[in-house]
Amino acid sequence: MSESGKSEVKIRIPAAVATILEGLEAAGFQAYIVGGCVRDALLGMEPHDFDVTTDAAPQQVEQVFRAFTVLETGLKHGTVTVLSPEGEDGARVPVEVTTFRTEGSYSDGRHPDAVSFTKRIGEDLARRDFTMNAIAYSPVRGFADPFDGRADVKAGLIRAVGEAAARFREDGLRILRAIRFAAVLPGFRIEEETARAAKETRALLSRISAERVAQELAKLLCGSQVVPVLAAFPEILFQVIPELRPAFGFSQNNPHHVYSVYEHSILSCGYVPPAFHLRLAALLHDSGKPYCYAEDEEGIGHFHGHAARSAAIAEAVTSRLKLDRCTCERVRLLVEMHDIRWNGTVPMVKRLLARTGEEAFFELLALLRADTKAQAPAESARLADYAEMERLAREILVQEQCFSRRQLAVNGSDLLALGFPAGPELGAILDELVDRVIDGRLPNEQEALLAYVRNRLAQSE
Ligand code: ATP
Ligand code: MG
Repeated sequence: MSESGKSEVKIRIPAAVATILEGLEAAGFQAYIVGGCVRDALLGMEPHDFDVTTDAAPQQVEQVFRAFTVLETGLKHGTVTVLSPEGEDGARVPVEVTTFRTEGSYSDGRHPDAVSFTKRIGEDLARRDFTMNAIAYSPVRGFADPFDGRADVKAGLIRAVGEAAARFREDGLRILRAIRFAAVLPGFRIEEETARAAKETRALLSRISAERVAQELAKLLCGSQVVPVLAAFPEILFQVIPELRPAFGFSQNNPHHVYSVYEHSILSCGYVPPAFHLRLAALLHDSGKPYCYAEDEEGIGHFHGHAARSAAIAEAVTSRLKLDRCTCERVRLLVEMHDIRWNGTVPMVKRLLARTGEEAFFELLALLRADTKAQAPAESARLADYAEMERLAREILVQEQCFSRRQLAVNGSDLLALGFPAGPELGAILDELVDRVIDGRLPNEQEALLAYVRNRLAQSE
């Protein structure tokens, strides 16, 4: 399997990882880096982590590195994590070391029925999903590349190892991984037969756990090529987000929109910054539209109430994907608020800030901009409004102007000290003060606010 003589490409391996490879080789084992790190290095990208694979059994790896800390992170899959002492700054670096393994049959479409260790790197590479991910490299042994993954990396092809449909039937997640890699790796496309098999077997995705789907979906949506990929493989997306299917081809019959709801949704997704919650919010922001469609006398389409409907869909999607509560809540909020129309006033900016909080306010602006860019070209005039909203919000925050109870010059205890009764009225009067300060009907000054409250107390006596 070794092809050391043939390899012109050298891969730079960090010292911490080289220590592990050398330790295993010195003990008489084979050791390679493998998978994503080799692929990324061949592409000239900095790998984000290096996985090591070896013919040493996990216990043997532990024995070789007994002087280091070894964590049994995935013992039943043959994986241990060695804390290599050779980090750049002396810090210990965790390196995952997995024993060469083969996988038996997959009767559930998710997990192999049994894994067994092997002494042959080629057998380990054969269980991997795509040829570009089935390349191993060792500084002393050279490349192990039985499926010619390097040629596919060069050509930018995502090609299943072996028979694509059979590989997708083993583990349906690979279908989503195929389009995820197409979205993440610029210039890559899915080889024809692999693409055909992915479409054909897409229903298998429904057997995959929410957690595994969510992880791949996050990477897919944050990919730089997300728009063309979701345009080319909508049916695979609908397998994990069926709520978007009605948007496909749904014409908006409205001069403000030149795209169908689905096209508009994926374009919006591509326009927001690559953070999962933002991309997901953009993808789902109009998902309720097909359910809210009505035409006026002129035959123009309207979608009254679609933001609330889309927010309910977003809630269903994020909870099915088992995203953390914070993410679910943020996606829902952004979707629910995406239909606001700024009236050009400062008080409205303050009220929005109060409702969203600082972080979500700027995320909402990103979504509004994306939404606008993904509509008809004439709509772009609205971008100037968003720029102005952003400028105003930054000014409000820097100057610590009052937009919520937090910046109010009095608090609950001040009012209690005046003799204001505890209870729900206390919250209500604080909100009333905030309201008046926002509208400029009261200055945010302690004396003025207390005087107002005193006056109210006197009136109610
Ligand atoms: P990334 O850069 O996103 O981490 P990666 O290729 O390293 O990409 P991982 O999910 O970290 O992807 O998996 C590491 C390697 O394990 C892959 O390169 C591939 O060889 C193999 N692999 C991962 N998931 C599967 C799977 N579902 N089926 C077959 N092989 C897989
Ligand atoms: Mg990886």
